[in-house]
Amino acid sequence: MAARRNVSRGVLNISDIPSLLEEYARHNLPRDPSSVHAPSAALNRKVSVLRYDITKVAADAIVNAANNRLAGGSGVNGAIQSAAGPQLLEESLKLHGCQTGDAKVTKGYMLPAKLVIHAAGPIYDQYDKKEANRLLESCYLRSLQVAAENGVKTIAFPSISTGIFGFPITEASPIALNSVRQFLQSAEGMTLERVVFVLFAGEDEKVYRKTIPKYFPPSE
Ligand code: ADP
Repeated sequence: MAARRNVSRGVLNISDIPSLLEEYARHNLPRDPSSVHAPSAALNRKVSVLRYDITKVAADAIVNAANNRLAGGSGVNGAIQSAAGPQLLEESLKLHGCQTGDAKVTKGYMLPAKLVIHAAGPIYDQYDKKEANRLLESCYLRSLQVAAENGVKTIAFPSISTGIFGFPITEASPIALNSVRQFLQSAEGMTLERVVFVLFAGEDEKVYRKTIPKYFPPSE
């Protein structure tokens, strides 16, 4: 699909992003015989992975890989701030920061997404491995909770903490995928219709595509 090859294309509607169910049907994803998770068409219909610029995804909410101060920054945070316009920063500065592992919501302003959920990821080197993993998982779960509380049905995630915060993508992607699976299976997660993992770098997308079949195995 063209959208996967070119991260500089225009606004992308969630309904135009193929789900894992469709990708398996087209043999676009590998299989992982070591998966311990139950295959589920219902889950695979809700989840997608693609390489794109998250600021151009027209979801009910996009997640920002933010910092504790909820201030401007570089990477995906900087891209979201500049695409949303100055009102986003104004609103987020009124939220009194965000603890690592937590998430807070603002409007999307000039973004095609209605809301931005700001999740403060862990800086990899500042914690022992177990704590870094726990905090990253908490970012995904809290973002999804905040989404559900705000009536969000479609949400896009970047790869939290794997840029400047230094979390290796091979360690972060299983945590991201497992947390989303867990949440979608919970009572709280029933109202979510689509969760899209948006990767900016081709290498990161490759890692996700390799890891997905373990957490979301094909249903047929
Ligand atoms: P962190 O500080 O949490 O590590 P970064 O923004 O440095 O956050 O990186 C998080 C991830 O976001 C990285 O994998 C990076 O490639 C990705 N990223 C950067 N810009 C964008 C964008 N416009 N859309 C989607 N992902 C992006």
